[in-house]
Amino acid sequence: MTRRRSASFDAEIATAQRRKRRVYLLGGATAVGVLVLSWAIREPGDAFIAVVYPATAAYLLLCLVALWRRWLSLPVLEAAMLAPVTAVTLGRLAWHVSAPGPIDDRLLVLVGGHYWALATLVVAGFVLLDRRAGVWFGLSIIGASVLLLAAGAGSELIGPDASTQALAYLVRVHAFLLLILVLAAGVGALRSQLHRALIRAEAYADLARTDPLTGLLNRRAGMDVLRHEADARHRYGRPVAVTALDIDRFKAINDAYGHQRGDEVLVEVARVLRNEARDVDHVARWGGEEFLVISPETTAEQAAHFAERCRSALAATELTGIRVTASFGVTELHDDEGVDDLLARADALLYHAKDAGRDRVLDGTDVA
Ligand code: GH3
Ligand code: MG
Ligand code: MG
Repeated sequence: MTRRRSASFDAEIATAQRRKRRVYLLGGATAVGVLVLSWAIREPGDAFIAVVYPATAAYLLLCLVALWRRWLSLPVLEAAMLAPVTAVTLGRLAWHVSAPGPIDDRLLVLVGGHYWALATLVVAGFVLLDRRAGVWFGLSIIGASVLLLAAGAGSELIGPDASTQALAYLVRVHAFLLLILVLAAGVGALRSQLHRALIRAEAYADLARTDPLTGLLNRRAGMDVLRHEADARHRYGRPVAVTALDIDRFKAINDAYGHQRGDEVLVEVARVLRNEARDVDHVARWGGEEFLVISPETTAEQAAHFAERCRSALAATELTGIRVTASFGVTELHDDEGVDDLLARADALLYHAKDAGRDRVLDGTDVA
């Protein structure tokens, strides 16, 4: 495993999605509560609330079950919850506006809570959608509200007999809705800025751990992993083995084919190592043309088999048209020793392998 970071990043995203689901469950349950309460205390003869509210509450409950049981993806559920609730809220506004009676009386009904619902929807748009979509959604709601008022009660609001009180009230309410939109957009902007900063920090953390040429762990990250595995060895007795390898006569490859081709060989060697390694192994570029594979839960004997597989895979392949071999030193961590002792032993074995003719694997058993 060369990219532990991605796993932690995925875990962060999963946590964020779980949190989102919890917020939606809570928000959805509250909306169902409000709908049921409004239904219970409705005016007699209010057909809209009598029919539409229980239907919407039942639909939202279904959405909440789908959210709970994870039947649908979050974006689908977000749209499925927001769109009908918006339609019902605007429908109710249209109902109020077109109801018979003087505009001032109808406004008293509106004051009774309906604009709170619109304001909640404006904010919900920013919670459920991204910032740009949230702005458009909020503007659409406010625009729809103005259009519904103009269509249903325009003449009662503007004209010689108009209610200046109603007009002033509606202007204030819509200015208030716009203010909420601006504030929510501001919070949304901060949220996306934070999100971008986190992604950047994650990318930097990744860069700091990764060798840019091969994509393997770099030496520092490899060292961290090794120390972690050494702790596990000392604490829980889990064996850990390392395989150090160095490409044979790499200088000659550079001299013969150029540095660029040399780099391509390094990339190919990294690919072979990654192919042969298990998911739990950590492959690091230790230096110029030296690599280190850290194998948790593995004895030196098992690691020597792995090293032999790598050696023959390398020797059998013409990497970018060039024959390449490498020498390997394999050993495992003993009781009461630190990673430096382990690395020194792996290095010594590797150089014994060089002395013995290169293109071979040495583990402790071969050397007196
Ligand atoms: P040996 O079999 O004894 O290991 O011989 P060698 O030539 O591989 O060993 P040596 O350590 O003398 O040379 C290593 C060479 O690797 C020297 C250097 O130019 C080259 N090298 C180190 N890093 C890179 C790199 O990133 N890219 C390329 N192309 N070459 C590199
Ligand atoms: Mg070398
Ligand atoms: Mg070399």
